[in-house]
Amino acid sequence: MKPNTNYLNLKDSYLFSTVARKVAEYKSKNPGADIIRLGIGDVTLPLPGVVVEAMGKAVLEMGDKKTFRGYGDEQGYVFLREAILGYYSRKNVSLELDEVFISDGAKSDLGNILDIFSVDNTVVIPDPVYPVYVDTNTMAGRSIVFLDANLDNGFLPLPDDSLQADIIYLCSPNNPTGAVYTKEMLQKWVDFALERNAVILFDAAYEAYVRDPSLPTSIYQIEGAKACAIEFCSLSKTAGFTGTRCGYTVVPKELVFDGVSLNKLWLRRQTTKFNGVPYIVQRGAEAVFTERGLQEVGECISYYLENAKIIREALESMGIEFTGGANSPYIWLKCPGGMSSWEFFDYLLEKANVVGTPGVGFGKNGEGHFRLTAFGDRENVLTAVGRLKSLI
Ligand code: PLP
Repeated sequence: MKPNTNYLNLKDSYLFSTVARKVAEYKSKNPGADIIRLGIGDVTLPLPGVVVEAMGKAVLEMGDKKTFRGYGDEQGYVFLREAILGYYSRKNVSLELDEVFISDGAKSDLGNILDIFSVDNTVVIPDPVYPVYVDTNTMAGRSIVFLDANLDNGFLPLPDDSLQADIIYLCSPNNPTGAVYTKEMLQKWVDFALERNAVILFDAAYEAYVRDPSLPTSIYQIEGAKACAIEFCSLSKTAGFTGTRCGYTVVPKELVFDGVSLNKLWLRRQTTKFNGVPYIVQRGAEAVFTERGLQEVGECISYYLENAKIIREALESMGIEFTGGANSPYIWLKCPGGMSSWEFFDYLLEKANVVGTPGVGFGKNGEGHFRLTAFGDRENVLTAVGRLKSLI
């Protein structure tokens, strides 16, 4: 037996463990310190009432012989996929039922999708980025071309003629930078992919945070995208499903490469290796897309976006350069005084008792940057911002 030694090429992920260790060490030396975490990547508001009610009803159905359900529909229950189609029609995107696949979240699908691509494709991944894209390709032994995202391009890199690419990862609104591609920018990527016969893997996990109507919330709002893009969506940050687990992936039937339909390959992959999301969770997810659901979810997102605005305005008043903080729960700032990401982490922890995430943990271009998130409590955000203002 030979193990998959590609795993040995993975870079150890010290980021969050080092953050936790440093905070624990500081706390043990300063037990009275009131530490505020502005680095959390998890939601803090509970599930909306409409979701809890729907799941409660579904639990009772499962306990009754007449309404009990075993294995569900292959791609996810029709009621949920229909609700998602309705959600897309609000975005002026028309999808077919068998183009939507329900999953237990975007992370699984982003990793699993690689099963349907040959290992010798050239993969293009922006840097800095959500680490899952890099790690899953490394595990599969693919070579990666990194695309520089930096202050010069507003952390929104675009293709140029010299770029070689078969698989392109795009994430908008972006984690960690909070930057959001415009329609014109995405059109450049779609045109590039169509011309090069490449596929775009579009991570729309934060689409619900986009409030500016001129910005795209789905790649399918871009002409030609159905022939070159797969879209990954998640209810995690949209509706508080980080622990409940539900997402969906759109694989249009127009995606045909060398005569092979990616939709058919993904259906085969999913029906072979995945047995679906629990009925109870899918009923909860369906409730998200009702009028009441969208209203309740919208209120939670508004709360986080208001947090983001408070942080953004504070940074503006301090003259600190940043991206994000609008149409996104992430704020990505340039560390003041030329500090490195970890220097600024230590400085904030020790002088303000505020914890964020060092940007260098998301890729080499993240050095000298720092990620704050808007998922905390309002009171904590206000206190943290007050401390930052008096410190810097
Ligand atoms: N994509 C991005 C960019 C994320 O930041 C996250 C979670 O933080 C995910 C996907 C994963 O989402 P899920 O909880 O649906 O697996």
